[in-house]
Amino acid sequence: MSKKKVLLFYPPGALFQRGEDRCQQNIDDGSAQAMRACNDLGYAAAILLKGGYEVKLQDYQTQGDNFDVLLKDMKEFAPDMIMMSITNTTIFDDLKVVNELKSRFSPIVVLKGALFFDPEQAMLDMLDLSNVDYMIGGEIDFCIGKIADYCFKGVGKPEEINNILYKNEEGKIVPTKFHVWDEDLDSQPFPARQLMNNALYIRPDTKEPMATIQTARGCPSQCVFCLTPEISGKKVRFRSPQNVLEEMIECYEKFGIRNFFFKADTFTINPDWVKEMCKLIIHSKLYGKIQFTANSRVRPLQKDTLKLMKKAGCFLVAFGFESGSDEILQKMRKGTTVAENRQAAKWCHEIGLPFWGYFVIGFPWETKEDILLTKKLVMETDPDFIEVTIALPFYGTPMYETCKQENLLAKSVLGSDFFHSSAKGTMHLSIDEVMKLRRNILLGFYLRPKYIFRKMKECVTQPGVFVQYVKYGIKLVVNLFK
Ligand code: SF4
Repeated sequence: MSKKKVLLFYPPGALFQRGEDRCQQNIDDGSAQAMRACNDLGYAAAILLKGGYEVKLQDYQTQGDNFDVLLKDMKEFAPDMIMMSITNTTIFDDLKVVNELKSRFSPIVVLKGALFFDPEQAMLDMLDLSNVDYMIGGEIDFCIGKIADYCFKGVGKPEEINNILYKNEEGKIVPTKFHVWDEDLDSQPFPARQLMNNALYIRPDTKEPMATIQTARGCPSQCVFCLTPEISGKKVRFRSPQNVLEEMIECYEKFGIRNFFFKADTFTINPDWVKEMCKLIIHSKLYGKIQFTANSRVRPLQKDTLKLMKKAGCFLVAFGFESGSDEILQKMRKGTTVAENRQAAKWCHEIGLPFWGYFVIGFPWETKEDILLTKKLVMETDPDFIEVTIALPFYGTPMYETCKQENLLAKSVLGSDFFHSSAKGTMHLSIDEVMKLRRNILLGFYLRPKYIFRKMKECVTQPGVFVQYVKYGIKLVVNLFK
């Protein structure tokens, strides 16, 4: 019997970080960001290959392919099932793609996206899901194999697959059990990078391929704007450092990848785990040959951890500083203080570890004075790079509830993103005023002569990197004025 075929893909169109439940970032309109690897598709592919299916994986958006290329693949590969990653922003266009493919080819359609995690019926009612068969809201690697096995081998039942929505015999959408998480991350195969075009996913400064490696899932914090505690759980589930190192070695030896993004909701949340990971790298055959970047919170954080990370090959650490106002940090339930933000930045400057500062403005309670405090912190901390996003009330977050109660939602939160908010603004500022302040912070930071000279100095021996910086600078300015 011939193998059943599954096509896994990101559709053609604008660049979105589709594999990220938390960020789903609009890459085209941001600053110095590059697309991260399509690990969600890679994990799904690895599971399906293990189950005996024939798999094709295509990231049409990053490849720059148009809809005709997708149609050609549908004709030639003739998949029995298609699985597409969607985002809250692109969902309406994504469904148009689904409707077109279903009407022409009739495959089983599976969608994966954060908005299907225990969703409100009112939100589902806004979507034309008539041609969708399964919706995965949870972690794809724990669901896709079971859905395929049910559809093609008659194994199990949809109601037994946690964190999905399926259609019953009457065509009604039925949720299964949500808020349950599989613990054993080491048991999962590594993403099927042999099917991914690894050269598409680059380190923004050097343009070298960069693999994304998920090291942990979940976050105990409760930031009001973040989907992570809801989707990945408040308990952090770690892979073992040994298992992570094995994946890095596979990337290096099989695919020639020397740069890594350690994807964890907070990489430094457990200092002992981080230290063990760094020591393993230092004593491995990869030491001195690879570099990595990771996200961090400013609490808990130790200077020693940052030092060890640098020694192990960390070239950049990214902090979610979010705000320069303690009152706003408290209201967003970040669980950190401005003093801790300053401390983390100071340690990085002392150690010589480059860092990225993420800031968010436009929270419901923010005044102009609060946002100017954030600008003050941006300048004081003086990161190597910054991004300032607009607080987005995702479905399922406490911030969504606040915006609803305060009548701050101008339109549906579907279809909006960090740079095109669905909110009317804050209780004190219009969205135009918030956007103006964003522009003011970004231009004020990046156009400082001191900053430009510093970056030029750093790039004396790497002219290629300087060219990249200039390109990102031009993109930023164009985006801010368009
Ligand atoms: S620290 Fe906050 S923003 Fe970061 S992953 Fe946890 S809940 Fe989300």
